Amino acid sequence: QEDVFKKLVAHCKEYGFVFQSSEIYDGLGAVYDYGQMGVELKNNIKKYWWDSMVLLHENVVGIDSAIFMHPTIWKASGHVDAFNDPLIDNKDSKKRYRADVLIEELLAKYEDKMNKEVEKAAKKFGDSFDEAKFRETNVRVLENQAKWDEIHNRFTKALNDSDLEELRQIIVDYEVVCPISGTRNWTDVRQFNLMFATEMGSTADGALKVYLRPETAQGIFVNFLNVQKTGRMKIPFGIAQIGKAFRNEIVARQFIFRMREFEQMEMQFFVQPGTELEWFAKWKETRLKWHKALGLGDHKYRYHDHEKLAHYANAATDIEFQMPFGFKEVEGIHSRTDFDLSSHQQYSGKKMQYFDPEKGENYIPYVIETSIGVDRMFLSVLAASYCEEEVDGKDGAKESRVVLRIPPALAPVKMAVLPLVKKDGLPELARQIIDDLKFDFNCQYDEKDSIGKRYRRQDAIGTPFCVTIDHQSTEDGTVTIRYRDTMEQDRVKIADLQSIITKKVSM
Ligand code: ATP
Repeated sequence: QEDVFKKLVAHCKEYGFVFQSSEIYDGLGAVYDYGQMGVELKNNIKKYWWDSMVLLHENVVGIDSAIFMHPTIWKASGHVDAFNDPLIDNKDSKKRYRADVLIEELLAKYEDKMNKEVEKAAKKFGDSFDEAKFRETNVRVLENQAKWDEIHNRFTKALNDSDLEELRQIIVDYEVVCPISGTRNWTDVRQFNLMFATEMGSTADGALKVYLRPETAQGIFVNFLNVQKTGRMKIPFGIAQIGKAFRNEIVARQFIFRMREFEQMEMQFFVQPGTELEWFAKWKETRLKWHKALGLGDHKYRYHDHEKLAHYANAATDIEFQMPFGFKEVEGIHSRTDFDLSSHQQYSGKKMQYFDPEKGENYIPYVIETSIGVDRMFLSVLAASYCEEEVDGKDGAKESRVVLRIPPALAPVKMAVLPLVKKDGLPELARQIIDDLKFDFNCQYDEKDSIGKRYRRQDAIGTPFCVTIDHQSTEDGTVTIRYRDTMEQDRVKIADLQSIITKKVSM
């Protein structure tokens, strides 16, 4: 799996999906640029979300608020005081870790070690191997299991209690059993605020310390009444937004999974107090359905309900996706109570109440939030789509191909038009087809190299349809259409291309 992930990262670069930011200057940690294919896929993901949220829900509208906001907003939201991660430095290796990530890694290594023992035994005993019994009776495995449980329990408790000293102690205690860096020389665990700060205005006037927003949600909360009043919105209703967010992540790894500059698609749904858990359940279900509708594989998703809730929430769940490095959060759904609106009312001194015409009373609404990372979704789509396979090549020989089985609606290029030869009017006919269809979907023209090579290039960027123009095309107005996933081909009329492809690429 690790191997597949490395290949995927290399593939993203080779085909213009994702580049390291500032690459010619050796890059900038955890910041990435999207290339010519990546930007198309990313835009398609955003459109898929926006359309399903804003166009399909009569009571959800969108906004686009600024990245810079008044600094008191981050005081009111709790980010100035509490948006911290526990951090630990290794004095010897000079490496910096997020304490919770470090311990998670430790647990994963421990589990891995244990599983290897079981695997070894399974090989040795063959068909007669009974794993449960083995674990029950084998001292080494049992010992490992007990240790594992012990780390896990201590770790969960330390995190729940925000006990930094205990987190440090856990790392020191268990490193001998499962060394990560080969040294125990740690500094203390410290809290580290994840917001980026900068200054606005000239220093002579007294510059204002402002933050790059760590989430888009606050732009929605502070505009709640603007939208409600100008849009004559009635509760329940939602406000959606797509935009950049910034977090100074301590350990940023795993490619675009954890970035310092990323994009979120968030929706805050305002409801009557007391109805929030019903709405929470409804959005939880709606959002999972949305993910599954893409067809990446239902078994790749699972909920992770939070036992430990943030100070503002009375229910929370993550939708996790099976990444090459395990099940990981892609989207969070939170019942945020009236925490944010009440807090803004208190800090700004402005009423954040809604007048409910049906009940004839004022109240501060409760909020259900759905928050998904564009980049994480991008990674999940590519991870699920990337496929290396053996196919029949020329003269019955086997060939390997890399294909991105991206859902057609999200594919960067929908149709490639390929003249079989560069003469006899075939390129002209190909261009004409593109001119007729380029306003309907993204088309690409390619005349270089053998047709086989051109198919492979399109497979590698996930183009669902290749249309080949041959001599017969100029005579009878038909072309072959080749399907990416099956590699099967049909002969169809040029006049039918638009309807055939549109049907398959629309959601
Ligand atoms: P994590 O626990 O992985 O740090 P989080 O719980 O802090 O994530 P939220 O604050 O709930 O994340 O943000 C909502 C969504 O924004 C996440 O589900 C994720 O898709 C995305 N997201 C958050 N942080 C990052 C990041 N550093 N890089 C890319 N996407 C991110």
